[in-house]
Amino acid sequence: MAVMAKRKILVVEDNDLNRSLLCEILKPEYDVVEAENGREALERLRQYAGDFSLILLDIVMPVMDGYEFLAAIKEDPKFDSIPVIVTTQNDGESEEVAALSCGAADFVAKPYKPQIILHRVASIIHLRETAALVNEFQFDRLTGLSSKGFFCRQVEEQLRQNPEKEYDIICSDIVNFKLINDVFGIPAGDRVLKAIAQCYTENTRGRGICSHFHADQFACMIEHRWEYEESMFQKAGAWINSISQTQSIVMKWGIYRIEDRNIPVEQMCDRALLAARNIKGQYNKYFAYYDEALRSRLLQEQEIVDSMEQALQGEQFEIYLQPKYRIKDSQMVGAEALVRWNHPKWGRQSPAVFIPLFEQNGFITRLDEYVWDKACAVLRDWEEQGLCPVPISVNVSRADIYNVDLPDILMKLIHKYHLPPACLHLEITESAYTENPRQIINTVNRLRELGFMIEMDDFGSGYSSLHMLHEMPVDILKLDMRFVQSEPVTQVNQEIMRFIVNLTHLMKLGVVAEGVETAEQLERLQEIGCECVQGYYFAKPMPVKEFELHLKKSGMGGR
Ligand code: C2E
Ligand code: CA
Ligand code: CA
Repeated sequence: MAVMAKRKILVVEDNDLNRSLLCEILKPEYDVVEAENGREALERLRQYAGDFSLILLDIVMPVMDGYEFLAAIKEDPKFDSIPVIVTTQNDGESEEVAALSCGAADFVAKPYKPQIILHRVASIIHLRETAALVNEFQFDRLTGLSSKGFFCRQVEEQLRQNPEKEYDIICSDIVNFKLINDVFGIPAGDRVLKAIAQCYTENTRGRGICSHFHADQFACMIEHRWEYEESMFQKAGAWINSISQTQSIVMKWGIYRIEDRNIPVEQMCDRALLAARNIKGQYNKYFAYYDEALRSRLLQEQEIVDSMEQALQGEQFEIYLQPKYRIKDSQMVGAEALVRWNHPKWGRQSPAVFIPLFEQNGFITRLDEYVWDKACAVLRDWEEQGLCPVPISVNVSRADIYNVDLPDILMKLIHKYHLPPACLHLEITESAYTENPRQIINTVNRLRELGFMIEMDDFGSGYSSLHMLHEMPVDILKLDMRFVQSEPVTQVNQEIMRFIVNLTHLMKLGVVAEGVETAEQLERLQEIGCECVQGYYFAKPMPVKEFELHLKKSGMGGR
């Protein structure tokens, strides 16, 4: 039989006889530690790191009496939760009041009656232990809402008792909670959490179960309703901001309609939270439902993330090249390197599927370096084959530009493959420029000094002002394909494109139109004086070997 460790009790009593009497009574059930006065008792507390279930304390003692001892332990957060039973000479009411007002849990009178002592001790220990359990496990201290574990049990119970009723689980998450704690401090963070708790209780009053899971996560279960509106959640967020005096928190809410009661409550909440997280970046969207479409998408995303590392090691990523042509003489003047993922199970994957995920989790910087390396290796190989090479443009994601080592990384590649920097063009999307113009401008200036050519990608898709364009260090503008492809073709649209092209001439920039798919589109571009084009009308992105055939046909290429 396993032996449970006995609970420890500290007996503080100056009279030897009384002390041994108490010990005799307690020893069969408890592990007893003795002390002769308050000071010694404090030493024992420290020695056992406060690991006592109870203290039996004589009030009248030399050196340090019971009152002083009580005052001392109430000051110390390590010891202040240990219950104390005070022992007194007589059953007088005044002594009882004095002891209790100093924080004692109970009191027993001398002479000691074994049954009474054991009974008191057991009941005080039990009381404290269950109270601690309730506080720790059922209710969250800060907000007073149910803890996660308790919430799950309450929900199960409610579902069991009401098999005919329908319910929804709503969870919420603060997008920028860490920031709030960091910038405004923990008390401000706590104010926010309390305001959220209040919001949940007031909006579900009497009709729901609410819980504070942990950090900034809250949940509730309420009766199912068919419709939720953005405005409800927007108002709730505004109310929380005003109550907590922050003005800056952004909350997202997720709703899981309980249809299958067999899945664990915790999983239902996870699903609601996933729905909430899924709209993190979406301005003006405050809530989302968890549905099957979301479920399968998330599963797929997880699989992608799980296999990316192995894919990089296993050379599953391959670069495709798409040619760029000069309109006036149909000469091939360059190529863009676009990554493809040859997945052993799913086949060839488009970057649209995995690049956004890699941008979120940071893996993009490693994939990009891999792509740059491959592009440089191709350039080296062309040089060695005696082909007349064209420059290759590689995509540089915003995460790369924030890396202060970017110029070094690129220079190392250039040296590794003995290439002139000008044969590597760097495509940086326009929106990256607008996000953090100062830093981007500095880095890009440095890259240009080193000899790299800079192309501003997707121009016209972001919000860079013409004034800013003037300050941007760029060599070539790539017109976003929405310009070229916009339907119906209008005079205004054509004039806007003409204006931009003229501007590039004025600023002595090159210009490439992307996404050219038809002869009409090409004609229009030609009419406004656009120099270069890239698009399916000429060629789709293709494997390097295939591209080399085009290069050979093209004869005199580029630089
Ligand atoms: P992007 O940089 O704007 O690349 C152009 C995209 O347009 C490519 O899509 C290309 O295949 C496609 N495209 C080219 N001509 C036409 C056309 O005539 N019509 C249409 N509808 N599309 C055309 P892709 O290869 O799927 O790449 C999508 C995006 O993924 C790229 O957009 C780029 O932002 C990103 N990407 C691709 N490879 C890399 C990479 O190695 N690193 C990084 N950071 N991003 C990459
Ligand atoms: Ca690009
Ligand atoms: Ca583009």
